[in-house]
Amino acid sequence: MMGDHGYSDDDEDVYVSDDDGDISGVDDCDDDYDDNRDEFQAVDVSIDTGPSSKVITKESLLAAQREDLVRIMDLLSVKEHHARALLMHYGWDVEKVLAVLVEHGNEELFAAAGVKVVEHDDGPSSLQFSPTVFCYICYDDVSATEVTTMDCGHCFCNDCWTNHFIVKINEGQSRSITCMAHKCGAICDEANIRCLVGARDSDLAKKFDRFLLESYIEDNKRVKWCPSVPHCGNAIRIEVDELCEVECACGLQFCFGCSSEAHSPCSCLMWKLWSKKCHDESMTANWITVHTKPCPSCHKPVEKNGGCNLVRCICKRTFCWHCGGQTHDFFGCGRYKDKDVEMDTQSAKRDLERYMHYYNRYKAHTDSFKLEQKMKKTMHDKINTLYESDSSSKDFSWITNGLNRLFRSRRILSYSYPFAFYIFGNQLFKEDMKKKKQRYEEEEGEKKKKRQKYEEEKKKNKQLEDDMKKDRTIKQDLFEDQQQQFEANVEKLSMYLEEKFESYSEDKFKGWKMRTIALSVTTDNLGRNLYEFIETDLLGCIKGADHKIAPYKSKGVEKASEHHSSLGI
Ligand SMILES: [Zn+2]
Ligand SMILES: [Zn+2]
Ligand SMILES: [Zn+2]
Ligand SMILES: [Zn+2]
Ligand SMILES: [Zn+2]
Ligand SMILES: [Zn+2]
Ligand SMILES: [Zn+2]
Repeated sequence: MMGDHGYSDDDEDVYVSDDDGDISGVDDCDDDYDDNRDEFQAVDVSIDTGPSSKVITKESLLAAQREDLVRIMDLLSVKEHHARALLMHYGWDVEKVLAVLVEHGNEELFAAAGVKVVEHDDGPSSLQFSPTVFCYICYDDVSATEVTTMDCGHCFCNDCWTNHFIVKINEGQSRSITCMAHKCGAICDEANIRCLVGARDSDLAKKFDRFLLESYIEDNKRVKWCPSVPHCGNAIRIEVDELCEVECACGLQFCFGCSSEAHSPCSCLMWKLWSKKCHDESMTANWITVHTKPCPSCHKPVEKNGGCNLVRCICKRTFCWHCGGQTHDFFGCGRYKDKDVEMDTQSAKRDLERYMHYYNRYKAHTDSFKLEQKMKKTMHDKINTLYESDSSSKDFSWITNGLNRLFRSRRILSYSYPFAFYIFGNQLFKEDMKKKKQRYEEEEGEKKKKRQKYEEEKKKNKQLEDDMKKDRTIKQDLFEDQQQQFEANVEKLSMYLEEKFESYSEDKFKGWKMRTIALSVTTDNLGRNLYEFIETDLLGCIKGADHKIAPYKSKGVEKASEHHSSLGI
C-alpha cells in the first residue's frame, strides 16, 4: 500500500505531517477515489523527466569548473591554463571542444582559441649553468634564480613578469594573460602568475583567481547567476538546450533566457517589451496626454467634456482645444495639420484602450496570485485539523496538489494576457522591423545595396504581417475560447479551495474531494492545450522571429538540484 501514500514533489511535501509513517497503511477510501487519484498521478508524473538544472553554490563553483577542466586536460593532455583557454573560447562546452577536435584536429582547435602549445626542450639548457640571465625587458643581468621561463620558452626576470601580470589583472584581462615577448601571444601558466603576483600583492592574486572562477559562469552558455537581489551567491547550470525556467535553491524562479521573472507563455522579447511598457507608460500619464491639454496660462491639464472645442480651465481661462488660441473665433484653425493631430490622438486612444484591456486582466490575475499565496498557510492549518479529526483517510496530498495547480495556472493565466497583447497586435512586427533597420544601418557596404536588402526584408515582413492578419481573427477567437475556459476553471478551483471543507460531513467531504481532484486534472489539461495552441498555431507561424517560450510544466518550474562534484573535491 505504499503507493497509496501519493506522490509529493518537493514543493508539495510541506503539508505531509510528521506522523505520516504511521498512516501509510490506513487508507480505506473506496475505489472511486483511488481511480481518481491514479488518474491525477498519471497525468502529473508522466510529463516531466529527470532534473535538467543544477544549483552551483559558491562552494561548488570551483569543483564544477575543475570537473570540466580535468576532462579537457585528460582528453587532450594539456596543462590547466590551456584547458581553460580552450573552454573559455568554446563557452565551457566540453562537447563542443571535442566536436571541433574530431572534425578539425588539434592544431585548428588550439589556433582558434589562441592557444599555443609550444614544444620546447626541457633538457639541460645553458640557463642552468650560467649564474646570471639577461632580461630583455629591463635590460639587466639578473640572477638565474630570479627569472621565470614560460611554456613558450620565453624567459624574463620575475620583476618584469610581475609588473606585466599586475597591469593585465587590473585591466580586467585575467582570463587571457599572454607572454610579454614580441608577437608571442602564448597564454601564461596560471600557477606562475598566481605565485609571482601573490608574492607582491596577495589580494590581487585572490582577485585573479576570482576572475578565473567567474569566467565559468560569465562565458558559459549553460550557466547563469541567479538574479536574486540581494544575490544568494548561486549560479544555475542547465543540462538542456531548450529555453526553460528554473528555480534556484534560494526559491527564486526565473527565465533562463533573459534572467527576469518566469514569464511563459510570453517570449523573452514580449516580456521585455511588456515590462518596459508597463514601466514607462505609466497609465495615468498616458491618459492625461490623450485626454487633456495643458492650459496656456496656468498649465494645468484641462479635460474636454462637451463637443465644443472652446474649453474652460478652472483658472477661468478659455482656450481652443485644437490650437490653444484664446477665442473660439480661431482663424485658420482646423487646417490639415490639426486634422493629423486629431488622427494621432484617435489612434493613441485606441492603442491605450487596447493596452488597458490586457493590462487590467494581467494585473487582476497577478493580484489574485499574491492573495492566493496566503492560502498556503490557511490550508496547512485546515489539513492539520483534518489529521486530528477521525476521518477515514489520512492522505491529503491531493489538496496540496490542487493548491499548487491553482498557483501555476494563475501565473500562466496572468502572462497569457501580455502574450495576447503582442501576438494579436502589431507591435512585434514593428519591433522586429526596427531591429532589422538598425542592423542594416550599422552594416558596412554600399548604400544602394543595403537599401535594396532592407526593402526586401520590409516586403517579406509585410507579407508575414498580412498572413498573420488574415487568420488573426479566427486564431484570436480560438485562443480566447481556450483562455476563457482555462480562466473559468482556475476561478472555480480557487473557489473550491476556499470552501470550509474541514467542517464538512464525511459525505460532503468526499464529494468535495472528487470535485477538486477532477477540476485539478481538467485545469492541468486545459493549460497544456492552451500551450499547445500557442506553440503550434500561434508561434509556429512567426518563423524567423525569435519567440521561443518555456514549455508547459505540469509540475511547475523545476527546482534546480544540488550540484555534486564527481571529483570529490
Ligand atoms: Zn626584467
Ligand atoms: Zn612567449
Ligand atoms: Zn538564488
Ligand atoms: Zn525570458
Ligand atoms: Zn488655467
Ligand atoms: Zn463652441
Ligand atoms: Zn484653434
